[in-house]
Amino acid sequence: MSHAEEIGTRAPAAPKAESNGATVIPAPLPPPRLDELSPQNLYDKCMALARNLWWSWHPEVTNMFRELDPIRWRQLDHNPIALLAEFTPERLEARAAELVLYSRINQAYRRLKEYMAAESTWSTVHAGVLGSKPVAYFSAEFGIHESVPIYSGGLGVLAGDHIKSASGLGIPLIAVGLFYDQGYFRQHLDIDGYQHEEYLPNRVESLPIEPALGADGEQLVVKIDTRTGALHAKVWKMAVGRVDLYLLDSDVEGNSPEDRELTSRLYGGDTRTRIRQELILGVGGVRAIRALGIVPGVYHLNEGHSAFATLEAVRGRMDRDGFSFDDAVRKIARQTVFTTHTPVPAGHDRFDSGLIEEHLGPMRDALGISHDHLMSLGRVEPHNHGETFCMTVLGLKLSRRANAVSALHGHVSRRMWAPLWPYRVEEEVPIGHITNGVHLPTWLSWQMLQLYDRIFPANWFRRMGEPDIWQKIHECDPGELWETHYALKNLLLQFVRRRLARQCRRRGECDEAVEMARSVLDPNVLTIGFARRFATYKRADLVLADLDRLHGLVTCPDRPIQIIFAGKAHPADEPGKALIRKIANLRNDPRFAGRVVFVEDYDMNVTRHLVQGVDVWLNNPRRPLEASGTSGEKVVLNGGLNCSILDGWWAEAFDGRNGFAIGRGETHANPEITDRRDGEALYKVLENEVIPLFYERDSDGLPRRWIRMMMNSISSLAWRFSAHRMVMDYARACYVPAAGGVSCDMHNR
Ligand SMILES: *Cc1c(COP(=O)(O)O)cnc(C)c1O
Repeated sequence: MSHAEEIGTRAPAAPKAESNGATVIPAPLPPPRLDELSPQNLYDKCMALARNLWWSWHPEVTNMFRELDPIRWRQLDHNPIALLAEFTPERLEARAAELVLYSRINQAYRRLKEYMAAESTWSTVHAGVLGSKPVAYFSAEFGIHESVPIYSGGLGVLAGDHIKSASGLGIPLIAVGLFYDQGYFRQHLDIDGYQHEEYLPNRVESLPIEPALGADGEQLVVKIDTRTGALHAKVWKMAVGRVDLYLLDSDVEGNSPEDRELTSRLYGGDTRTRIRQELILGVGGVRAIRALGIVPGVYHLNEGHSAFATLEAVRGRMDRDGFSFDDAVRKIARQTVFTTHTPVPAGHDRFDSGLIEEHLGPMRDALGISHDHLMSLGRVEPHNHGETFCMTVLGLKLSRRANAVSALHGHVSRRMWAPLWPYRVEEEVPIGHITNGVHLPTWLSWQMLQLYDRIFPANWFRRMGEPDIWQKIHECDPGELWETHYALKNLLLQFVRRRLARQCRRRGECDEAVEMARSVLDPNVLTIGFARRFATYKRADLVLADLDRLHGLVTCPDRPIQIIFAGKAHPADEPGKALIRKIANLRNDPRFAGRVVFVEDYDMNVTRHLVQGVDVWLNNPRRPLEASGTSGEKVVLNGGLNCSILDGWWAEAFDGRNGFAIGRGETHANPEITDRRDGEALYKVLENEVIPLFYERDSDGLPRRWIRMMMNSISSLAWRFSAHRMVMDYARACYVPAAGGVSCDMHNR
């Protein structure tokens, strides 16, 4: 079936009642005329599809691009613009004729047009107040697809999923970010397992971006004064379905050579680079959208990086409407939503007084406030001169609505920021929570989509946020669900072997090693996946705590396990790199060779393969430091089971029947004791629950009780932890009231 119907399509023409009472179904669109498809016409349609990232969550469009040239497709990081650049219109036509692609191209093109023109969406009914005053969503990174590498990890992928769902729901929203012309690094491990970083330039002509044009018809450039000279940034525009994403880029004539590099890399550089990036994102971002004629009804700051946006918005109100500083702050705060994403102190940017004066001096002149007053907006204790300027504090002070990203993270954040509200008890601290979710069409495998299509009602894609739909999974034939999962697991193992062989070849290893890599892992063995940033609190090596015990599990003759690892450490994080090395080098240990593997260069592509094919997804952070986590939610959609510490989203998701819990959520003031206990709890749950359940087979060879748990996981979690549900929550509890509509409390406060 076709999924153009993802929430919001052109309003179906109402069936006309004829005078005799008969109902006339409107005629289907006429079939495409073949003469529309000159080679150039065909090429243009493909290019139009490639230039809106809508294609990336439509498997039938992705498959079409892949079929044009499967090998180049892979080599080009699944980038359709780069792929099409290698075709002439004539060659494309020949290839399309060979593969009989005409009607698929035509149909995809037509569906994109219909999607873009939709008049009736969830939002027209539920968020009409936003009307022509869109939400302006700010984030330092956006993970939309692996071919657009302007993200590093979870925060970016969440932002990408957020704007995709906003597009699906038809919420008037534009997004603002930075254009990193080298993005985040590519990871390679050397023969010793040590991580090396490679930065590849993003070529503008291969990306789905175009200049955002100013009033003069030229690419818009914004200027931001500092005490040490002006910074300039040009503005790009990228289409993500119905959402326009504006990206600021400091590589502009007029900037010093160092400033031209400011936005080259994500999270590179020192605090001075950081504050300059954040000045461009926040202040430059608000200026850019104003210059484009966009008047936001709501500002949504995804994490503190963009919090300077509030100051520029305040300045704008004072300038345009003649408000005093205090009145403008009240107005802007009412319109601003702030989302905090981490309880880890180092995750909150802080700048010293000198950097603030250098970069926001001209701003505070315009606002008519003293340096001390400005500093107080970023301090917990306004007059504590020893305190640096914290972006999260600015975000909290200048927003009326603030939220954490899971229920547990809400508690932790209220405690963490309680000193900002000295006259309130902790429960009254005004930080609520909206738990993160994932964009289903992005993360759901094609195979599981087919299965859901067969057993769910025809319009399920439009109703994927409804629990009832997902109950139907219990009517699925257990054998069919298991076979589908088994096929996906095989695809994952093929992917891993191909990657490992490539890694060996790149390191110049012998043919024997390459051959070995081609035969690692066994599809009949319980397969555990662990992939995430190698931040130490995520404890990637917890399962390695007792190597003898792990050895026993991995080589158990009748009930073995195998583990696939992936993840990047921040370039400056030596302990994180040491952890990667420890895990990657297990391949040289005969006790683990071929059973514990490390896949390099974790990105959205690696994620997709892993979350679609693993039996079990392991997550063992040091509670409560994982604010939400989202990778486990991607696993749910595809039938994998979570085995996790009760932290982040899993603390509210686990019900005893839909996956596995490591421990019972206990913590200890001494992290070493916590780690030891959690390590023990991890082995216990593997040995006593996960492994026995997986290998318990009936006479048909099916693990019945395991399959039932897969069904419980899908039916209880898929709808709740979807980005559609998340964005609907933001719309109801934050966007609509911030835009002046009827207020609705953030649930579960
Ligand atoms: C989903 C995703 C993440 C987030 O994973 P966590 O569960 O938050 O660790 C990080 N990186 C990539 C590439 C992802 O796709």
